[in-house]
Amino acid sequence: MVRKIRIYPDPILREKAEVVEEVGGEILALAEDLADTMIAHEGLGLSANQIGELKRVISVDRSEFSGRESDVQILINPSVVYREGEDVDEEGCLSFPGLYFDVKRSYLVVVKALELQGNKPVPVEITATGLYARVLQHEIDHLNGVLYIDYLKPKERMRKLREWKENLKEELSV
Ligand code: ZN
Repeated sequence: MVRKIRIYPDPILREKAEVVEEVGGEILALAEDLADTMIAHEGLGLSANQIGELKRVISVDRSEFSGRESDVQILINPSVVYREGEDVDEEGCLSFPGLYFDVKRSYLVVVKALELQGNKPVPVEITATGLYARVLQHEIDHLNGVLYIDYLKPKERMRKLREWKENLKEELSV
């Protein structure tokens, strides 16, 4: 089911999501909703916070870098256990429609998580680079209440948010 995406400054985006203790029906339904909502909005990734659930679950659309047509990955309790290098690239976020800017991230990350394979949670250790690593870092940040605007200097952040809000207003009034 496609869910409503929470838009900044919705307070849930600043909350820390809870560790998933048991992968039951509720989490499987959440995983499906995350995938459906991410695909419907053409996002590369989505976190549970963004659809209003404080559980440590994210979805990533790997088709952008794997070359496979349909390649959605669901990760439960993901955490970055190693990082290396630096990479600057433009980033967007479904909770900030239309706001894009450069963010410095680690070029390589190793992420430990439970990956949903079918309906089974399987422990995995993922080594990701480039865009894949970027999406993982962005979505795991969401689970900790951290947003990509936090990487901007305060002045720059205020300016970008002001411009973004004005553009949103214009779009809504058209
Ligand atoms: Zn985001």
